[in-house]
Amino acid sequence: TKYIFVTGGVVSGIGKGVTASSIGMLVKAAGYRVTAIKIDPYINMDAGTMSPFEHGEVFVLDDGGEADLDLGNYERFMDLNLSRDNNITTGKIYQSVLDRERKGDFLGKTVQVVPHITNTIQEWIERVAHSPQDGKRGAPDVCVVELGGTVGDIESMPFIEAVRQFQWKVGRQNVAFFHVSLVPVVGAVGEEKTKPTQHSVQSLRALGISPDFLVCRSTRPLDEKTKEKLANFCHVPEEQCVGMHDVSNIYRVPLLLEEQGILDCLLDKLELERHSTTVLPE
Ligand code: ADP
Repeated sequence: TKYIFVTGGVVSGIGKGVTASSIGMLVKAAGYRVTAIKIDPYINMDAGTMSPFEHGEVFVLDDGGEADLDLGNYERFMDLNLSRDNNITTGKIYQSVLDRERKGDFLGKTVQVVPHITNTIQEWIERVAHSPQDGKRGAPDVCVVELGGTVGDIESMPFIEAVRQFQWKVGRQNVAFFHVSLVPVVGAVGEEKTKPTQHSVQSLRALGISPDFLVCRSTRPLDEKTKEKLANFCHVPEEQCVGMHDVSNIYRVPLLLEEQGILDCLLDKLELERHSTTVLPE
């Protein structure tokens, strides 16, 4: 199984969910079976008890699991039927560790964030990534994992650390990192600013994760010069810095990414071939 991790920087609500769904859809169009996991670093067990004013609407899964709306996007973009285990929260991870602690599974040991929480996160991701959610048998080929929140949040640290370890456990050729960031257009001359992205990539690197792809949200299509600058300052190949400007309909996003050649780069990174020659609709 190959893993695609999607992190976000600068601000929340930047479009990580739409990015993760779109990438999953493209990989599926290339002929691979996909699944998806959403990580929500809050302590609630799930979104079921959270006010819609705070969290947005709840998406109810087939097994009754109450989750973030992003899982609805995954289901629609990738044609999946996800289960409650496809949504990981800090609450669920801690509950599973604490249940085992009470049963005596760790007897004699001090139970700690590293390694016990981080190992549980890795085991959970690996287990769910291998379970099919597309109605077919056998493990999916690719699992897209979206890490909610913004890089640098205290809450998401154990997850980032787990993912950092995970990339070595499963092998670098089996993992691709996408970082979704913001490129604001500032001032009277309308200059595209790369500094917030530079800083968020730096924070991510400081935690041991080097993004392979940058997805830059902005109000308008990115200038080539901006991509060049991002590539230079963020140490990401220029063809792997893509723009994701505001579009009228989020179902246009997969095409927007594909037009910039992201799928071929991603398949190369994961050492996968393009199976199907499905042409996406114009
Ligand atoms: P996150 O997962 O980072 O919180 P979401 O993927 O849920 O963000 O996106 C936040 C909001 O922005 C959603 O309402 C989504 O429909 C919208 N959105 C995301 N990408 C785009 C885009 N390229 N153009 C227009 N709207 C977008």
